[in-house]
Amino acid sequence: MIEIGPYEIHAIETGRFRLDGGAMFGVVPRVLWEQKTQPDALNRIPMSMRALLAVDRAAGRVILVDTGAGDKWTADEIERFAFDIEGDRLGAGLRTHGLGDDDVTDVIITHLHFDHNGGLTRWEDADAQRATPRFRKAKHWLHAGHYAHATAPTQKDRASFYERDIQPIAEAGLLELVEGDDPKSLIPNVSWFLANGHTPYQMLPRFFDDNAAIQYVADLIPTVAHLPIPWVMAYDNEPLKTMTEKQQILRDCAEQNLMLFFEHDPQVAAAYIDTTAKRPKVKDVVPC
Ligand SMILES: [Zn+2]
Repeated sequence: MIEIGPYEIHAIETGRFRLDGGAMFGVVPRVLWEQKTQPDALNRIPMSMRALLAVDRAAGRVILVDTGAGDKWTADEIERFAFDIEGDRLGAGLRTHGLGDDDVTDVIITHLHFDHNGGLTRWEDADAQRATPRFRKAKHWLHAGHYAHATAPTQKDRASFYERDIQPIAEAGLLELVEGDDPKSLIPNVSWFLANGHTPYQMLPRFFDDNAAIQYVADLIPTVAHLPIPWVMAYDNEPLKTMTEKQQILRDCAEQNLMLFFEHDPQVAAAYIDTTAKRPKVKDVVPC
């Protein structure tokens, strides 16, 4: 278990899915990326949808970072994305730590792409396409700039947003919008790293104390194979920005021994990074 500040930190595997390997690695040729991850017959690579759970037992604070894809999917969509989401693994993960949905006090929404936060809501009435918030007692932290983008996305990432994932949260008055380009976090021992290359105002939490820190990297560095600076997804709106932002994170890994928490890597949840080699790579995997 990782302990930082008042928090115990755990990984919750909410499910798996697959995306096109070419799209996941941008300009990197398949002959290189297939050495890192083996695609299926449809050229898709396996990906995790891993939430981070931070619990401060003394204060009764339960923080969830991202929520997976949820279960509001049709049979066709389940096949297209090879969603492996049988059973409520997010709920089971919370129960493992003695927690239920209504114990969650804070949900941190890195961004609103469906594979990250479809789990925010559930169908109340699937036929009427009416969804309802899952974490009814929680403040839902989201950057205002990303919220604005998600309601008017670019042609490039329009297909990744679903109104049903966020509108019910807003309507229930559960949204806490974070403003500005250098926002201070109101959650103890948490700071924000804003990453704009993948999608505007992706908001990545860093849990820290005087001795250690762990950074949730979501779609800034989706898997350990994406640690080298030019290994950037074709999905990114502004890949050059992503490269600069990765450099900043890797500098903190080198100078502050920052741990990274990977949302999409099929094997590695948390790790220290070796930045001294020609290409950055995992140094030590940290169980969590
Ligand atoms: Zn994304």
